[in-house]
This record gives sequence, structure tokens and C-alpha cells, in this order.
Amino acid sequence: MKCPVCGEDCVSEAQELIATVPSVFSPCSDCSSRILDKNLPPPVEGYREPCRCGKRFIDEVYAHLYAILVNEGIFSGEEPLKDVGTPLVHPGFAMKSPPYLPENSLVLLSRVAEKKVADRMVQDVPEIKAVVKFGTFTPGVVDPDLAVPPQSYELLAGCDIRANIFSSRAGPVVLYQQQSKIHIEFPRWSNPKIEAVEFHVSAVNPEWFVDAFCGIGKLGLIGARMGIPHVVMNDAWYAAAFWAAYNTQVNREFFRVDNVKILGDYRKMEEMPVIRKPRLIAETEGEQEIRVYQGDFRELHTILPPVPVLAALDIFEKRIPEAAEKALEEWRKHVNGEAFIP
Ligand SMILES: [Zn+2]
Ligand SMILES: [Zn+2]
Repeated sequence: MKCPVCGEDCVSEAQELIATVPSVFSPCSDCSSRILDKNLPPPVEGYREPCRCGKRFIDEVYAHLYAILVNEGIFSGEEPLKDVGTPLVHPGFAMKSPPYLPENSLVLLSRVAEKKVADRMVQDVPEIKAVVKFGTFTPGVVDPDLAVPPQSYELLAGCDIRANIFSSRAGPVVLYQQQSKIHIEFPRWSNPKIEAVEFHVSAVNPEWFVDAFCGIGKLGLIGARMGIPHVVMNDAWYAAAFWAAYNTQVNREFFRVDNVKILGDYRKMEEMPVIRKPRLIAETEGEQEIRVYQGDFRELHTILPPVPVLAALDIFEKRIPEAAEKALEEWRKHVNGEAFIP
């Protein structure tokens, strides 16, 4: 599939990507596995090259990145290895041991990198897919009232789309995202939000399921995988709504749909990064109806039928109980059925 960020062939269908999981980060019998202390600079003899199988242990990749940072004068050589940045592997899934990285499998989030060094990292280190300038804020919409202006990280070099694979009782879903635009989440062995959706869906057996703060579509697509006949996803942030639409397409073989129509264009949507009146970004044709909107969750009732709806309100500020209560109260004013904070 064509990548909406770089235009190249960066994206695989869900099944194809899931099939790589058992071996994608496994070593061959010749792979070197030197474990480096992340709290110290790497050893003076430097990094090792990738194995003939094309993979390299993540610590060696970090030592290579470190050498570039020293060479470009950003590091003095005294910094610990962990200061290189945060690694996000592609595809991301819960792992038992650190990965042996094949080509183009790592998006590096760095606080210290600048454009020039990032270009060199992408060019010289085969495992690096992209380098993103990392800040202390969360990208995207963080406030259900949409009062706080959203921010993004900066893509310095490469293509920063990558996928996470989340498991559920109904099976896995693949979620692509552009890392500089979306908050960081990595699959773990258990996922309480997914479990909350499974619990409520089993209890209610709904005809309609709404994921009102859908992000890139995780809970909505799990609902669709569970076979709910009508699924609506919504997010006010353009990048979230777009990737939720795109991920509906990526995972379409898991749904009872004939076709997924994506109506939003990523570049054009960026001009209106937050909108209130719900705008249809994607819809399916076939037995199962899945729709994705960009808009304010408080306006979403205008596009819903007057039937009972199960709604997940995955608000970012759920650690503030009043914000969660206020969102639920607002939702229940207009929509019948059950609503919960996952
Ligand atoms: Zn790409
Ligand atoms: Zn090897």
C-alpha cells in the first residue's frame, strides 16, 4: 500500500505484517549479541557492523548512532548510551527480549538530534527508518474541550510511519501512525483499555459502538473485529482521524466489508487540524458499517441514529476524574445507551 507520508511502499496489509511477528526481530546463529550498559558511554572499540543475515542487535545500533553524535560534535563522548533517545521498533508488539533489528525497523525519538545529524543517521545506519525531534509535550489533542492548541513533534529525517500490533480476544489489529503526530503508545502483554471494551461489548452485545476519542482507531477497530454491526470512530485531531480511517483500510480483511472508502486527504486535512462539526473521513460498504469522523465528540450525536449506543470515551485526561465525569455527563445528555471510560 502507498504510504501517505513518503509516497513509497511503506505499508503492508494487516495479515502480511502479522505474519512477520514470530521471526522479524530474531537473530540467526551468527548474530552477535553484545549487551551494553545503557548508563555508560559505549566501549571505545566502537560498534559492530550488521550480521550477514542483515540484522543487528539493538545495542550495536545504538553504539553506531552514538558514534555519529560524537562525530558531529553533539555528544562529547561522556554521555550514557541511553541519551541517544527512545527507540520505537516497527512493527511494535509485546516482546520477551530485546530485538535484532532488520533494515528500516527503528524510529528514533531524540531530544538532541538536529536535521544534519538525523540525515546522517538515516543514511548511514540501515536499521533507522526515521529520526523525530522529541519534546516534553504530548502531540495531538490532549483536552476534550479542544481549548489547548495541539502540537506535533518534528520529523527530522526519513519516514516516521510505523505500526503497532495489538492483541485482543477477537484477534490482532494493526495500527499504523505517523509517529511525530500521535502520542506514544507501545503494546504490552496486557491492555486494560482493550479488556474494558471486551467486557462491555460482551455484557451489552451492542448493535452500535462508538469510539468517541478514537485516536488512531484502536478500540473502534477491536469493536469491529468483535463483529459489532455498526461502528463509529471519531477524533477532533486530523492525524488521529486520518490514521483511524487508514487503519480501517489496513485491517479490512478482518471485517465483513466489501470496500473501505477514504474521503479525507492527509495533506489537506492538515490545513484544518482540529474541527468541531463532524466530518466523514471514511466509510465502508458491505454487511458491516464502519465510519470514521473528524470532529468534536459533543457534536457526534448529530450523526448518530436515535438508538441505544455503547460508547467508549477514551479521554486523554482521565486521570482528572472531573474531566472524565464531565465528558460522560455531556455525552449522556444526547445519546441513549451505555457509556464508559476505558
Ligand atoms: Zn513512508
Ligand atoms: Zn545474523
